[in-house]
Amino acid sequence: MSYRAHFRCTAGCSGEYPLDQVIYRCPQCSDLLEVVHDMDQLRDRSAAAWMKVFDDRYLRTQWPYGSGVWGKKEWVQPHLRDENIVSMYEGGSNLFWAERHGRGLGLGDLWVKQCGNSHTGSFKDLGMTVLVSTVKQMIADGKPIRAIACASTGDTSAALAAYAAAAGIKAMVLLPRGKVSTAQLVQPLANGATVLALDTDFDGCMAIVQRLAEEEGVYLANSMNSLRLEGQKTVAIEIVQQFEWQVPDWVIIPGGNLGNVSALGAGFLMMQALGVIAKLPRICVAQAEAANPLFQSYQDGFERFVPVTARRTHASAIQIGNPVSFKKAIRTLQRFGGVVEQASEAELADAAARADRTGMFNCPHTGVALAALEKLCARGAIRQGDRVVVISTANGLKFTDFKTLYHEAALADVPSPKLANAPLVLPSHYASVRDAVRKVLD
Ligand SMILES: *Cc1c(COP(=O)(O)O)cnc(C)c1O
Ligand SMILES: [Zn+2]
Repeated sequence: MSYRAHFRCTAGCSGEYPLDQVIYRCPQCSDLLEVVHDMDQLRDRSAAAWMKVFDDRYLRTQWPYGSGVWGKKEWVQPHLRDENIVSMYEGGSNLFWAERHGRGLGLGDLWVKQCGNSHTGSFKDLGMTVLVSTVKQMIADGKPIRAIACASTGDTSAALAAYAAAAGIKAMVLLPRGKVSTAQLVQPLANGATVLALDTDFDGCMAIVQRLAEEEGVYLANSMNSLRLEGQKTVAIEIVQQFEWQVPDWVIIPGGNLGNVSALGAGFLMMQALGVIAKLPRICVAQAEAANPLFQSYQDGFERFVPVTARRTHASAIQIGNPVSFKKAIRTLQRFGGVVEQASEAELADAAARADRTGMFNCPHTGVALAALEKLCARGAIRQGDRVVVISTANGLKFTDFKTLYHEAALADVPSPKLANAPLVLPSHYASVRDAVRKVLD
């Protein structure tokens, strides 16, 4: 059975475009496109039958269906021939009960979805596998694509470089110079991508890469390309699957370019449309105060959306002032009883550290979501019995400078970290070590 899916304008213009066409925006109104699946056709299997298919494939080794994304291939990108799939067994990340951290907040049912436990250390792998696989098939079918390019705050370029290298396709990444972590810079270099470090911010890189896509025959891998969102959508499905097909009450997502919130929303809506779930969770998007255009719009009841110039934030992957997917995000929030929260630099750093004290190792973006969680609990929006999922978007090990400086009380804009834990530097004499140990034990 081959299922149908195509691109369609998100603003409602008529016209359908094949998923292997090089097209990013509606030719009539230049709004973003979205992938639309033929839902009637997908109803040829009952909800129970889909759940069984997904469960049978989940984390097994029948290639490529053990991948958290490709195990749901019919709902993601049904047109791909298996030989073109570029997969690194993405998805299937752990969803764990943050028991001790939850207890500290008065919550009994707090969970963290570790999307950063992934091939390149962030959730960007989930979307990139779909995009790069589609491009591989386009090239196999004779389309003249010379390379794949993206502008990035770090994680997208790492994912693109890895998947393109696995496929043998040229990758080019445009990064704001000095604004990504060392790990994020070295990942695409190691994978052989061309790395263009520009003296601008993400929004500046974005403007340039869009022009490269128009004029130089490179395929654009940014999240305005809705193929990626189809892969990221599987996070919502996987969370529900991991809860034995139960829906949580709240999902908290750090948001920058705002593609991921609409992706998760699309996943929940698709499950609802196909009868897999009967209710929707509430969604909170968490932004850094330094880059908070969605938060400001939310304060205004989404009456207006005004891009900002993003200021520097340790949550560098969401340092975006002019998010490309803001309309999709607002639509999602309106469907999901959504709220938007923000976190200052001190709030995000302390929130990450507080959760770390219960055994996690959070990246600054996850810190933003954790700070939002604290605020929602404090003002009673999240209630004691609610099942809450925090989306951890990247692996803390990609952000060791942030974490080291925090514990040395040397992090910019965080002059008095609440949970700093610097090493005790001692002479190697038993007596001084013993005295230090006694102090701790007292
Ligand atoms: C990309 C990214 C985000 C933001 O996702 P958007 O879809 O741009 O909102 C958050 N955290 C990390 C670690 C990311 O890499
Ligand atoms: Zn349109």
